[in-house]
Amino acid sequence: MITAVYPGSFDPATYGHLDIIKRASISFDRVIVGVLHNSAKSPLFSVEERVKILKEATKDLPNVQIDSFSGLLVDYAREKDLHVIVRGLRAITDFEYELQMAQTNRMLSHGKIDTVFLTTSLEYAYLSSSAIKQIASFDGDITPCVPDFVADLIYDKYRQKKLSENSDV
Ligand code: ADP
Repeated sequence: MITAVYPGSFDPATYGHLDIIKRASISFDRVIVGVLHNSAKSPLFSVEERVKILKEATKDLPNVQIDSFSGLLVDYAREKDLHVIVRGLRAITDFEYELQMAQTNRMLSHGKIDTVFLTTSLEYAYLSSSAIKQIASFDGDITPCVPDFVADLIYDKYRQKKLSENSDV
């Protein structure tokens, strides 16, 4: 039985991420989506919120499990006895960074962990969480990019941000 781990920030999950999860769930017996708790970044959604969003969005995929981790991915993988990492590749611009990450993780795990890349479905190739957040912050339409319940949560976040900024002045 092969379990793959799909790590990322998922701040928040987009249709691009969900497409990779769905396809990985067909190729592997089990997929663990690992939401990275990265204290260096200031995310829009907390780890708990990102986990909750992913759980809801993948509730129809029985072999997909959502978890969170902090620290090195190889340490998390070793702890869970996982040997395959899944990452999505959108364009050539992702490649250099992803190649470096894959080789680093292989080195750190002494060759025990390999990375498998799934190329994005063309209709989602342009999607990124950061672009979606930027569009939503200006009240643009993000409904083609994320499930409706996620779009509502993103708009709510920016509404709250604007309210707290206005009450500060
Ligand atoms: P990170 O901050 O670790 O890059 P992300 O949440 O941005 O985390 O992305 C997690 C993974 O999903 C990465 O492998 C990224 O290339 C991939 N990904 C992001 N957006 C898409 C998309 N639209 N289609 C396919 N893969 C994607």
